[in-house]
Amino acid sequence: MNARVLILDELSPAALDVFARRGLAPEVKTGLKDERLLEAVGDAEALVVRSATRITRAVIEAAPRLRVVGRAGIGVDNVDLEAATERGVVVMNTPMGNATTTAELAIALVFALARHITRADRLVRSGKWRAKDLVGTELFGKTLGVIGLGRIGRIVAERGRGIGMKVLGHDPYLAPDPGVSINGVELLGLEELLARSDFISVHVPLNDSTRNLLSWKELARVKPGARLIQASRGGVVDEEAVLDALSNARLGGAAFDVFVEEPPPRDHPLLAREDVIVTPHLGASSEEAQQRVALDIAEQIADFLLDGVARNAVNAPSLPVESLHEVAPYTLLAEKMGSFVAQRMGGPIRKVELTVAGDVKRFGIVHFRLAFLVGCLRHSLETGVNFVNAPHIARERGILVLENTEAEAVYRQGEIHVRAAERAGGKTCSVSGTVFGREPLLTSVDDIRLDLPPKGHILITRHQDRPGVLGQIGTVLGRHDVNIQRLELGPTESGPAYGFLTLGKRPPNEVMEAIRALDAIEEAQLIQL
Ligand code: NAD
Repeated sequence: MNARVLILDELSPAALDVFARRGLAPEVKTGLKDERLLEAVGDAEALVVRSATRITRAVIEAAPRLRVVGRAGIGVDNVDLEAATERGVVVMNTPMGNATTTAELAIALVFALARHITRADRLVRSGKWRAKDLVGTELFGKTLGVIGLGRIGRIVAERGRGIGMKVLGHDPYLAPDPGVSINGVELLGLEELLARSDFISVHVPLNDSTRNLLSWKELARVKPGARLIQASRGGVVDEEAVLDALSNARLGGAAFDVFVEEPPPRDHPLLAREDVIVTPHLGASSEEAQQRVALDIAEQIADFLLDGVARNAVNAPSLPVESLHEVAPYTLLAEKMGSFVAQRMGGPIRKVELTVAGDVKRFGIVHFRLAFLVGCLRHSLETGVNFVNAPHIARERGILVLENTEAEAVYRQGEIHVRAAERAGGKTCSVSGTVFGREPLLTSVDDIRLDLPPKGHILITRHQDRPGVLGQIGTVLGRHDVNIQRLELGPTESGPAYGFLTLGKRPPNEVMEAIRALDAIEEAQLIQL
């Protein structure tokens, strides 16, 4: 059998050997765009990409035989997951491929900061042989604080222990209560970790709750002279606040592999400092990592095409083709509800009650539970969550899922209801949704009746119920050329009112701040679906 595999981006040649050994003969056609790309995919069954080629809805529609898209690497932002899921095309990535390589870079930066390696190199080359100006710090016995204990953070923690450091961790999604130890790493609240660590290494994804996770307030709490390693995503660490903390010697040094703007402008003040090490987003750049992701994706695609086994699928798992068409929009709804709830809660969820009602319950609940968990967990994890590992990750993170089916439903075709809660007595969030035609729709949020497509940039406001408030919000948005595409209003009988505004584009942070500063606004949150 010779399924048609098309490799669209540069891939380590080792992958071709794997395909050949498995009896597949891929074609390599790199650098295609627009019409030429649409023509090339015509009868492909599998497409392999890295990050350059964009697999849009049009590409997926131009390939009627397509069954799988493989991304050699982690991020799947270049693949239209919604279009793929709707068409029953499995999208897979290679989540483990570059974790070790990136963790090793972080550890290399710990050493480099401790012993002034880059500054020493510059001095020797400029004719200055002055070891006395470069006295370093021993790492043995020092404390390493790791923020975010996912794939990379865990390896950093393990390596830190290997060189005799005491390792502290902070990851609110992992441990229900501070003070717990996982693999010899004591888990603490952020403040305590910052106050006790000599070296702080950050390994969280970038999202609205991690943007500027380390800013002025947090850096004011670090142990004086601590050194910071930022090899996660630009924006997790507030660069201006770091500059301040270095200037007033609160921080003893910093290393940046990633920046808010990449490449950083040449006059970026971090680049002018002797106590800062900079590298050009080198984290995943090792021969082994490049090769590993290429080999992994080749094996995974062969397994799928030849044996029907989908490993590391980031979208829906295989369902019988006959039911796929009907179930897909509900799967998408459940995933969007997961993403909505995770963002609305903004912190760790401990308990989820999931109810599937109406006709759609005949497909069972498992599929929707998985989709909900994938949407929910993706918010706090980089991209390694899929339908296979979601239950395991949820268990590891202490999320209890209770499920229920009901025959009765207002929308007879099918409804999904979710109620999520933080630890006992904490925040809760309830959401319900259905599907109209093939479009998912949120029908209520916290008992507020809505008809809200879970799509795009949704601004949720809680505001005083008086005339003119929405006009003020509209004015702020309009001044920044942000269009309101849809507006839903919450109850107005007593107490605060709610607005759910679907926006034409993501408003910049200063616009959100300006909205929050309006007198009548009690809360303004942006949710990205
Ligand atoms: P991961 O999803 O496996 O782990 C992320 C961890 O962060 C999870 O355990 C999650 O619970 C935790 N987390 C989320 N929000 C948090 C918060 N507010 N406080 C503390 N912990 C929080 O991700 P990963 O694969 O380990 O990647 C980590 C980071 O490294 C990502 O930002 C990724 O983009 C980046 N990365 C950088 C490079 C590079 O070249 N420098 C290469 C690969 C990955």
